[in-house]
Amino acid sequence: MIYYACSYVPLEILFASGLSFMKIERADYSEDPLVHRNLCGYCKATFEAVKDMNSDDLFIAVDSCDAMRRINDLAQSYSKAQILQLRLPWKRDDASRIFYRNQLEGLVDMLSLVRGKTITIRELKEGIKSFNDLKKHLWSLHNKGIAYTEIQKAIDLANSGQKYQPLDKKVAKNGPRLAVAGGLMKDEEFLKMVGSIGAEIVFNETCAGMRGFTGESFPTADPIDEIATRLIQRRIPCGRFIDGSDTSILRKIFQSLKVDGVLRLNQKFCDFFDDYPLPEELPSLSLEIDYPLASLGQLSTRIGAFVERIKKGISRVSVSKTAGRYFIGVDSGSTTTNLVITNDKGEILLWKIAPTGINGSATASKLLKEAQREMNFSDDDIAYCVATGYGRSIVDFANETITEITCHARGAKRFFPEAKCIIDIGGQDSKAIRLDEKGNVVDFSMNDKCAAGTGRFLEVMARVLEKDLDAMADAAEKARKNLSISSMCTVFAESEVVSLIGKGESIDDISAGLFRSISKRIAAMYKRVKGEPPVVFTGGVARNSGIVKALQEELGINFLIPDVPDIVGAYGAAIMAMEKVIR
Ligand code: SF4
Repeated sequence: MIYYACSYVPLEILFASGLSFMKIERADYSEDPLVHRNLCGYCKATFEAVKDMNSDDLFIAVDSCDAMRRINDLAQSYSKAQILQLRLPWKRDDASRIFYRNQLEGLVDMLSLVRGKTITIRELKEGIKSFNDLKKHLWSLHNKGIAYTEIQKAIDLANSGQKYQPLDKKVAKNGPRLAVAGGLMKDEEFLKMVGSIGAEIVFNETCAGMRGFTGESFPTADPIDEIATRLIQRRIPCGRFIDGSDTSILRKIFQSLKVDGVLRLNQKFCDFFDDYPLPEELPSLSLEIDYPLASLGQLSTRIGAFVERIKKGISRVSVSKTAGRYFIGVDSGSTTTNLVITNDKGEILLWKIAPTGINGSATASKLLKEAQREMNFSDDDIAYCVATGYGRSIVDFANETITEITCHARGAKRFFPEAKCIIDIGGQDSKAIRLDEKGNVVDFSMNDKCAAGTGRFLEVMARVLEKDLDAMADAAEKARKNLSISSMCTVFAESEVVSLIGKGESIDDISAGLFRSISKRIAAMYKRVKGEPPVVFTGGVARNSGIVKALQEELGINFLIPDVPDIVGAYGAAIMAMEKVIR
């Protein structure tokens, strides 16, 4: 069998050889001590697949990035398969095209050797035609509006030279139409998750999707040169090309498929797609992802907020004229659950906060029951309820869920109409959110999966110092030294703090150092979204004077802080509930 792992291996030539071929699509791997930890999951999984190959297999490797080059080097020593490495240029000029043409000639020679017969010019021209047929088939599915999950099945089979006639399932009319672009993605769970938050993936530009099926090639007198020209100069370039910033092909595709927004994906440990060029007029969201995919919860909050941002206008719901007079917002966070009840003017009538505990759904219901008892109202008095926060989907009595990013924006703007930016430090994640004058989210940045820069980080550090958070803030006031805690990771920071204690550093200085450390992390998010004052500080952590002082110093601004900063998200949810209802 002929195996390959990169879309710069031309299917035209594989077709011409008449040999069976297959793209490596493995998703699982075990951490092999031969492979450096800091390589992307796709490289690790590819190495796993190459190790399992037999002596009559051929692996066509491409040095598409440093990580792949390392995997290819390892494969030479640890796989029984024959390895042919194609060297991919870094530029897209004529010299690069000619260079890659020579590489492809080597591929033709190798495949001729494997099959025991020279691949002829006529066969190469036939190969181009077969590839063009397959490409035409895939594009016709897009043009017919076939559901993307079906198209991906067709792409996967096309990568092994087979044609798939998908079910006649059409793209659901489900909110904004999104494209994914950048680093490799085709995970079904991901596609389903995007569907569940009210959007549809309609195009996959990544190299697991249609990127390799772009660019024209014709059966000319020099078919190898023609194939090299398609790959280097006509198709959508991969992120490795330093002069690959032409977005015109993508723009045309996105326009024809009526794409509303783009998710720019980047594999963890890969930096090719951080600035992957996309048509500027379309809103985009950059996401770092694992291979295989992990932390879907966090991804769903980010994508949910992005979808809410690009949705045109609020979709209103109609309730009967006699429907209740109360609007409820519930913020089910990892640390606390907060509930706010407003009237139809958006005035807060009651708020409640309780630790979320192990059963967030029961906690939310308990808060509602308590509120009903205190205010003496029944379920019929509730006009509409919006749940937000990490556990928003488990609030049984909510009519709708909206991400905490949108709800914090709405709540903060209501408290402080002059607000232009929000910093929210929650138990599990932290965010910087930039607003427009109406309180809509223009941009946001969130910490990644680890707890660095969150309330959890502070809690762990307070435990190490055997103090509570308020006592840590008091201690920081008395600091004399400018101690720096360089580890951002909670686990490493914990050992750093333990060793500082061991060296006799004072708790006062360490506390101040910790507040400065978290502030730097939050400040980086604030700068990423081009934040500007006035800034509202929300979330329970905003009650801690230590972090407020450190962060204000770091950013050189003073915050606006509501009396109860914990309830801003729940208040925003109640406001959204109120704005959604038409009587
Ligand atoms: S995801 Fe990045 S690091 Fe991994 S193979 Fe692709 S380009 Fe290389």
